[in-house]
Amino acid sequence: MDKPFLKKLRRIAPYVPGEQPQRGDILKLNANENPYPPAPGVQQALRSFDACSLALYPDANGKALKTALAGRFGIKPTQVFLGNGSDDVLALAFQSFFCSDQPILYPDITYSFYPVWCDLFRIPYETVPLDENFCVNIRDYDKPNGGVILPNPNAPTGRALLLDALEALLQHNADCVVIIDEAYVDFGAQSAVPLIEKYENLLVVQTMSKSRSLAGLRIGYALGSETLIATLEAVKNSYNSYTLDAVALAAGAASVADETYFQQTCRKVIATRERTADALRALGFLAPPSLTNFLFVTHPQRDAAGLFAALRDRDIFIRYFKLPRIDNYLRITVGTDAQMDRLLAALRDILS
Ligand code: PMP
Repeated sequence: MDKPFLKKLRRIAPYVPGEQPQRGDILKLNANENPYPPAPGVQQALRSFDACSLALYPDANGKALKTALAGRFGIKPTQVFLGNGSDDVLALAFQSFFCSDQPILYPDITYSFYPVWCDLFRIPYETVPLDENFCVNIRDYDKPNGGVILPNPNAPTGRALLLDALEALLQHNADCVVIIDEAYVDFGAQSAVPLIEKYENLLVVQTMSKSRSLAGLRIGYALGSETLIATLEAVKNSYNSYTLDAVALAAGAASVADETYFQQTCRKVIATRERTADALRALGFLAPPSLTNFLFVTHPQRDAAGLFAALRDRDIFIRYFKLPRIDNYLRITVGTDAQMDRLLAALRDILS
């Protein structure tokens, strides 16, 4: 017979991230990490970090990093919130802003963490279908709701909305909080940050994991009105005051200080993305335009699960989601040109 305490435990289906294989010879294109190292200033900040200072707690308010980010975006430090990766920021935002009985809205095909947080925090939700080209139609969000969350660009489709569409979305959703998850925005999409002065209910969430090559450090942040940021701070401080450690705070500020390196890295990833998309199309894949550091592709004559397995046999890890509407698609992170050449050579071999 079951032990009675088992009935009292929380049951939940967790989010499953891309695998992190430890073998060095694997080509890892499954978690949208950046193939380039972080800015030289980050490496310098880590080398000169005084380990003795770790005896003290970090600055719970992360003042230096907030000031650096505020300077970059032309806003006040009180409009910046810091978290342990944008997953942490998003989870706190779900708890802070999605507190009504009405369902929150997000696309049917999107970041698969959203339903997990809804389950965890018992937030009602409704998914809104993307159109047949995987595009968001913002008119579909003109209905009563408890909040809206949209990744822009969307994941795993890679498709982005223009700023005009985001503004129209905000105009039609003035009575709830609208979160724009900009994890991939630096690879060519338009950011909603310029709208935060005008729309007090807009929260923009970004991460240093992708465009700043700092996935291992776990730094995410939100930008928004002082009202939203103060609410997030209060919720965070009701849970864990010291979210970012001292090492992350120092390295994050060093990354923000080097705008030139950041822009160069993004440009390199974008160029490789376009070159790879063309090469994949030449192999018969359909590759919708992506404004991210990944490509979302399908091959009309080949089974995606089979291609995924064949690449894995060749030590190339990509991502396959066995989910409705996208179960014949593959998500491929954009690496260096040399890494993409290895992928393309393997695909040529598999398809021949
Ligand atoms: N949002 C989206 C759309 C993502 O794909 C990811 C990466 N899995 C995240 C947020 C979270 O990234 P991180 O926690 O590394 O900042």
